[in-house]
Amino acid sequence: MSNPWLREMWRVLVMFAALLVTGLLFGAVAWFLLLGLLIYLGWHLYNLYLLQRWLVEGKRFHPPESHGVWDDVFERIYRLQKRNRKRKRNLGRMLKRFQTATAALPDATIVLGPNRDIEWWNASARDILELRSPRDIGQRIDNLLRHPRFIEYLNKGDFSQSVVIPSPSDYSISLAVSVVPYGENRQLVVARDITRLERLEQARRDFVANVSHELRSPLTVISGYLESLLEEQGEDPVWGKSLRSMSNQTDRMRDIVDDLLLLSRLETGRQHDDPETVDVPGMLAQIMEEAARISGEEGHCFKREVNTNLGLRGNELELRSAFSNLVFNAVRYTPPGGTINVRWKETEAGPCFEVEDAGIGIAAHHIPRLTERFYRVDAGRSRRSGGTGLGLAIVKHVLLRHDANLAIESTPGKGSTFRCQFSGERKLALPGEKDLRQH
Ligand code: ADP
Repeated sequence: MSNPWLREMWRVLVMFAALLVTGLLFGAVAWFLLLGLLIYLGWHLYNLYLLQRWLVEGKRFHPPESHGVWDDVFERIYRLQKRNRKRKRNLGRMLKRFQTATAALPDATIVLGPNRDIEWWNASARDILELRSPRDIGQRIDNLLRHPRFIEYLNKGDFSQSVVIPSPSDYSISLAVSVVPYGENRQLVVARDITRLERLEQARRDFVANVSHELRSPLTVISGYLESLLEEQGEDPVWGKSLRSMSNQTDRMRDIVDDLLLLSRLETGRQHDDPETVDVPGMLAQIMEEAARISGEEGHCFKREVNTNLGLRGNELELRSAFSNLVFNAVRYTPPGGTINVRWKETEAGPCFEVEDAGIGIAAHHIPRLTERFYRVDAGRSRRSGGTGLGLAIVKHVLLRHDANLAIESTPGKGSTFRCQFSGERKLALPGEKDLRQH
């Protein structure tokens, strides 16, 4: 009989049968049955006592010895305990492995509690951020990383990107810090030492700036001589064509060098703390005149919707460069006679500059890469039309420096719209009557 309850029933039956017979023999059935009941109850109470003591003592590994149903109960609890112990051991081992792996991460990793208090950190955090136990346990993260950029990042709550700050222990070390929310109200702070990367980036910027700078003087000399030669021998049947081609190529190189210099100035130059008042409508009028000159005999149809009262706080030279790049691109990539719409208006988000053309358009997969340096959809066409491949990179950097963003919509064969959205804080009212000029 494998069922312990059945066995127990049998034991009880046999015991009571024996007591009944003995009771009959002695003529005291009730007394014998009562005695049997008391002995049976006592046995259960004793086993209950053993169970309670075993559970309280806990440490005793083996279960108490017993019989019948109690033996089965003890055995089952014992097995359950064994299983739990094994599970606990496995969990402990897993936790240890996880902690060893996290500790070995080259990035400083800090676990924050619900109140942004520091709960745990790895070895890199100890080295990079000089965290010490127990001193820093429970300290708030904004007490440790006090840089205003980090505090703003933390309060803003948009953790899609990281923020670059100097290390609190050594200002020559640059850290890219990101916050990763997880679980309920918990956050992980990951800080990566990007000093080497920043230095490399700086070396690249310096190199491009120096090369461009060094190339500028020889180019000016060459183009000067070429100009004189063209004046003297421009009509020469042998040399005329070659000289014109050399002069064109020199101009192209000068344009590229100028654009590279402008780009490195935009990258390295300090953000202007005190922006100028920019008369965008006036600037656009000049740009449109120039665009009409570039269009020349191609006869593009220019339309303008300009809010003449709307100005902008920013850097005039930079904005002129960005806006003219967009308008001139529209001319260069729109077939003769095509319409080009230039708009300067106020939207809910703030001032907005928009150039819409009816040109060749751009396939969707090129759009995300257009602002990369020298990225061209059609290199041949770009060169033929005098492009340097740097125009949109310049636009992107100028907009970045003006807290604006660039949106590009395009349909191949139909045309493109380039939209620069500025924030409302940059808006400036210009004196004069409000009118929307349409040309
Ligand atoms: P580029 O000097 O070659 O014009 P840009 O950086 O100004 O360099 O533009 C990058 C590429 O984007 C261009 O080569 C061209 O393929 C594409 N592009 C830019 N503007 C337009 C436009 N308005 N219509 C179609 N393609 C455009």
